[in-house]
Amino acid sequence: MIYFQSLTQTELAELLKPVSFPKARRSAAPEAAAGEFSSAENQLKAEKKARYRAKQIFHWVYQRTVTDWDQMSDLSKDLRAWLRENVEIYRLPQRVNQQALDGTHKFLWNLADGKTVESVIIPAALQEKENPDRDFDEQPAEKFAGAPVDNKSLSSERWSRLTACISSQVGCAMSCKFCLTGIQGLDRHLQVHEIVGQVHELRRIAPITNIVFMGMGEPLHNLENVAKACKILLDEDGLNFSKRKVTVSTSGLVPAIEALGREVDVSLAISLNASTDEQRSRIMPVNRKWNLEALLGACRDYPLGKHRRITFEYVLLKDFNDSLEDAARVFALLRGIPSKLNLIPFNEHPGSEFKRPSDETVRKFQKYFIDRNVTATVRISRGRDILAACGQLRSVFGTARGTDRHRDWAGSPGPS
Ligand code: SAH
Ligand code: SF4
Repeated sequence: MIYFQSLTQTELAELLKPVSFPKARRSAAPEAAAGEFSSAENQLKAEKKARYRAKQIFHWVYQRTVTDWDQMSDLSKDLRAWLRENVEIYRLPQRVNQQALDGTHKFLWNLADGKTVESVIIPAALQEKENPDRDFDEQPAEKFAGAPVDNKSLSSERWSRLTACISSQVGCAMSCKFCLTGIQGLDRHLQVHEIVGQVHELRRIAPITNIVFMGMGEPLHNLENVAKACKILLDEDGLNFSKRKVTVSTSGLVPAIEALGREVDVSLAISLNASTDEQRSRIMPVNRKWNLEALLGACRDYPLGKHRRITFEYVLLKDFNDSLEDAARVFALLRGIPSKLNLIPFNEHPGSEFKRPSDETVRKFQKYFIDRNVTATVRISRGRDILAACGQLRSVFGTARGTDRHRDWAGSPGPS
């Protein structure tokens, strides 16, 4: 059985080629294998038909949220029977679905092997409250209201943007000191259908407008599956996300950043989290392999489209990386890179050696950048009542903003 959500439209068409052409017109030769055609012309016809069928099926599953082959009324009976036998539309069973007081929704999914991963839906209006000076320049979520919204709290009238924060691995191998997932270690990579499946499920619940790979795991450690999942998410006949609205966040696997840029056109977020190599290596072992110079070099080379910027995430750890000297160093590091900064006050978890800085420290740090015309957003977590199990999802957002109109870093004056 093949999982539908693991297929690009081209792969599905390839699969359908032998079945989408009337049997009678296939090669009459008894030794001909299924899928061999009597003439080049027939071959072409079969290809065209298969492509058309693949498109229809993408519409049914991703845009009309139909998950039963038999309901796809414009497909032939034979084709539906073949699909039933060979292709499974994967459903991720929900284990937990909780809503925080601030509108954040957390989902825990049961994977087939008994493991679990989580996704979070983060409504955008929260960000606007945190950043009252932001432009309201987003397209309304109604544009994406193709999916049935069975949950009033996530209906498109309430929010200008609904960001789905999804996982790429069960656990994570990167061992960042401040991160709960990192402490757990890596269990396994998620498969393509498990990644796309999260978005597919969430889209059935709410009109998701943005996707960020900021859930569990290091997406670039699972590059092949993540890049393919991104391609499927971007398919216009499928979930149809724009490249600006899909953001992959990485702790800094430099060769994989380059490979991602070659593979697929999505937005990039970097977990910077420190202002010097010494500091960064202490909390993120990955920095010992690829230091700030290598990382920022890869950022400079990343094929960003026009008017697009890299998001730099910076977890603020009390008395560790939250001073104004740190701010000045970060400012200097990022000069010349079209960027925006997403400040994340540390989410304390049991046993963590770090503390969250005071709101005042956070505001001062943010102000340093705003005063220099650099976009710097802060998220003070209010989803804490339900998100206790996760070291990061509850506080991470403010990224993946498609149409931010703030000035580019590149155009800002240097540190004073
Ligand atoms: N592995 C990827 C994506 C998942 S982590 C990465 O590291 O970029 C997403 C974000 O959560 C990262 O920016 C990380 O620095 C941040 N994060 C992890 N643990 C956190 C915590 N306890 N408090 C606040 N942010 C945290
Ligand atoms: Fe992994 Fe990201 Fe956590 Fe680091 S911060 S351990 S890379 S999930």
